[in-house]
Amino acid sequence: MTIAVDFDGVIHAYSKGWADGTIYDPPIPGAIEGLQQLMVEHAVFIHTSRAARPVAEWLAEHGITACVEEGIAAPLEFWNDRSQVLVTNRKLPAVAYLDDRAVRFTSWTAALHDLLPNPA
Ligand SMILES: [Mg+2]
Repeated sequence: MTIAVDFDGVIHAYSKGWADGTIYDPPIPGAIEGLQQLMVEHAVFIHTSRAARPVAEWLAEHGITACVEEGIAAPLEFWNDRSQVLVTNRKLPAVAYLDDRAVRFTSWTAALHDLLPNPA
């Protein structure tokens, strides 16, 4: 199985928001160990709106082997390698997306209730 994990606010503490666009915070407590545990059972990719390479380098500095799609011959359709994480800004298939800004979809009624101040 493949799990997608958001970067900012889930792995990178992101205490000041985007700020100047750098990766300025340490990992959120438990993030590195959590990724390592997930990788025992699942292929993990990091789904981020950031450029992939600086994220991959930051992960490597914190002990997570990471790669980017650049240099891979054809665009990936799936990620199923448990030995390293892929960092990408593309939404690849996954059984779960771990994200601090997610709203779990169950129905449009519930979604509009969650997202609008006064749903019709
Ligand atoms: Mg986030």
